[in-house]
Amino acid sequence: MVKATEKKVLELIKRIKNGERRALSQAITFTESTRKEHREVAKGVLDKLYANNDNTVRIAVSGTPGVGKSTFIESFGINLIKNGNNVAVLAIDPSSEGSGGSILGDKTRMELLSKEKSAFIRPSPARGSLGGTNTRTQEAIILCEAAGFNIILIETVGVGQSETMASQMVDVFCLLLGPGGGDELQGVKRGIMEISDLILVNKADGQLKKVAETTRSEYAKALQLFRRRQVDPPLFPKVLTISSTEKSGLSDTWKEIETLISWRKHSDLFFRIREEQKLSWFYREITNSVNLRIKNSEKISKKKEEFERRIKEGLILPFNAAERLASEIIK
Ligand code: GDP
Repeated sequence: MVKATEKKVLELIKRIKNGERRALSQAITFTESTRKEHREVAKGVLDKLYANNDNTVRIAVSGTPGVGKSTFIESFGINLIKNGNNVAVLAIDPSSEGSGGSILGDKTRMELLSKEKSAFIRPSPARGSLGGTNTRTQEAIILCEAAGFNIILIETVGVGQSETMASQMVDVFCLLLGPGGGDELQGVKRGIMEISDLILVNKADGQLKKVAETTRSEYAKALQLFRRRQVDPPLFPKVLTISSTEKSGLSDTWKEIETLISWRKHSDLFFRIREEQKLSWFYREITNSVNLRIKNSEKISKKKEEFERRIKEGLILPFNAAERLASEIIK
């Protein structure tokens, strides 16, 4: 490592450990950068801060737009902080190009939580900053934990791919639903139900309270049809009604998360899941590294474009083109 990089790495580590939010933000930005010198710093920092943080809790908060994810994260986060936790909020947003606005980008969201000393909120990176469909949420988790955050909440965008990715990074997967009754049930993708550990029927307040309760029991019944992990406690995946605006059901949500985690730790499943997740990270990183190699080499980028053109024209099999490009990279 060159001297300047090493100096920057040590300085960032010191500031992160000191609890400086700006240093934490900067380190995360470096992991998202495609510039070589930034990546060197990011690698150095991650390398030194990486640890098996088995005492932290990583929670995904998923659900369609408008269901109340950010309202929930704010109320739940403040609740957790009141109980002595340090809470980091990250976003996972792999659809970095083409689609709508970025989540957590709006500064007015989670205003109360962002004022808390024990909270850290990181908006998702600017679109296209990684030049593809990838995300550095995993790296951000490690950095936040090194900075002393023991609970990491990860908001997803609710479009399928981000849920799958989030499930490869978290200990507990929470799905938020609206109090929509049976219709709601139809619309939920089976895949998301299968990875959910906790289903929270939000907006169980005012006139919607009754409907929410009906929705809850419908889900509870439907979930009995799903496969569940043998080693999970009885009645999981569990369905609860909550209100993020009235702040009800939040302590129960945490209680269920704690029950699930201690049960899984007891049976070792918690640790096996985290091991698997490290492998997923490794596999994602292989793809990332290859893509970066292509991006950073003019010669290989040109070759790739040429293959793309020839594939479209039917002049070469994608299979063969991939193999030839791979050997070009390895050369
Ligand atoms: P997101 O798109 O999933 O992040 O949803 P938001 O948190 O932005 O919430 C969408 C709307 O639902 C906002 O108008 C919230 O005030 C409202 N909302 C969120 N949680 C609740 C709740 O528990 N009860 C009620 N009545 N409204 C809620």
